[in-house]
Amino acid sequence: MNSIVTFPNRIPVEEFEERRFQVYTDRQLDKIEAIQQLPEETRFEMRVVASVLPFRVNEYVINELINWDQVPNDPIYQLVFPQKGMLKDEHYERMANLHREGAEKADIQAAAKEIRDELNPHPAGQMEMNMPTLNGEVLDGIQHKYRETMLFFPAQGQTCHSYCTFCFRWAQFVGDKDLKMSSTDAARMHGYLKEHTEITDLLVTGGDPMVMKTKNLVQYLEPLLEPEFDHVQTIRIGTKALTFWPYRFVTDKDADDLIELFARLVDAGKHVAIMAHYNHWQEISTDIAEAAIRRIRSTGAEIRAQGPLIKHVNDDADAWAKLWKKEVKLGIIPYYIFVERDTGAKNYFEVPLAEAYNIYREAIKQVSGLARTARGPSMSAGPGKVEVQGITEISGEKVFVLRFLQGRNPDWVQRPFFAKYSETATWLHELEPAFGEEKFFFEDEYEQMRQGNG
Ligand code: SF4
Repeated sequence: MNSIVTFPNRIPVEEFEERRFQVYTDRQLDKIEAIQQLPEETRFEMRVVASVLPFRVNEYVINELINWDQVPNDPIYQLVFPQKGMLKDEHYERMANLHREGAEKADIQAAAKEIRDELNPHPAGQMEMNMPTLNGEVLDGIQHKYRETMLFFPAQGQTCHSYCTFCFRWAQFVGDKDLKMSSTDAARMHGYLKEHTEITDLLVTGGDPMVMKTKNLVQYLEPLLEPEFDHVQTIRIGTKALTFWPYRFVTDKDADDLIELFARLVDAGKHVAIMAHYNHWQEISTDIAEAAIRRIRSTGAEIRAQGPLIKHVNDDADAWAKLWKKEVKLGIIPYYIFVERDTGAKNYFEVPLAEAYNIYREAIKQVSGLARTARGPSMSAGPGKVEVQGITEISGEKVFVLRFLQGRNPDWVQRPFFAKYSETATWLHELEPAFGEEKFFFEDEYEQMRQGNG
């Protein structure tokens, strides 16, 4: 273990200057030069919203990814900077009044906590249903929702290089300790994997695991090269660092070690999949972003791209088509287009399922077969990942055609089912079964699982 191998000479050496990582949170909003140019009213709104929802942005995103001439409509600006509409009117007014009155920090924090609790901080039963046990003990930082996939949330990776305003894991970032799910315990994670030989895929996720030092990642991943982990064939790493901080893979102090780790895992026979979170082609508009992609791919690791469809950022078929084309050109595999989850600032970002499907279809029509690997729009709901496959008419009834791409019961997968068409529904629980049925086929079994009998 931990043996040093020579740095594989297939990896390109990229000529880039090291960049200092400089980050701004709600306390430093006013220090951001570009923000100082915005009207005072806009800055006040940002301060109000940032006292409820997490805010963090780094200098690279501000200076390289946002087109300030397009603000407030620039997609990356919407992706990272708080906007008034992200809070419901009553929540906004309550918080704005506290700011206007110059309320004590403690009062602002207490009000923020109450508002957050109303925003469904843990969607899809994450806290109740997905916590596995080892030797009778609940394992923090691990989720085992689908038979073959285990999620691991390393404690050192529970933040991100910047925060997305629409993040479904936002609750983790606002200091509410009972909502955090993370672990530093490599031994327990390995213990669980050893016992569960049905797990073929490990997904290391966060926050963003790429904020971790490489040496921490090594401690979690390198032991998986031992023969007792042969069943773990794929190591997926969910990250938005390719957008928010591509220097992580190119010039950061331990970037070479990271690239070497990927190469070592690949050479030992693991499939390493970087699950890159992209929302817009503008995220891949810099030389450093392309260099990071080249370096990762040269190790033999694959990059798969996924991200939600969100109003104000990418509710636009042409933008998706351009993103997918760009991804394929750079050797990235388009993987998923998600429906924005039922949490946080959902009201601001949500796109009705019917519209989301139409955007997806209009986008996919524009690209070649290689980019048509993007599945969706898909809802990561309690029972599983449900895809809107189409809108059609059967026996005079207009319906959504749906299928599970992943299910809590693997037998649900790929079984088509139908919901009444709706112009406004934005999530699975707002859909009704078609053809006069009372329930969807999985509902009774899912309810049993929720009661703990499944
Ligand atoms: S990078 Fe991912 S986890 Fe981090 S804020 Fe964005 S969506 Fe959330």
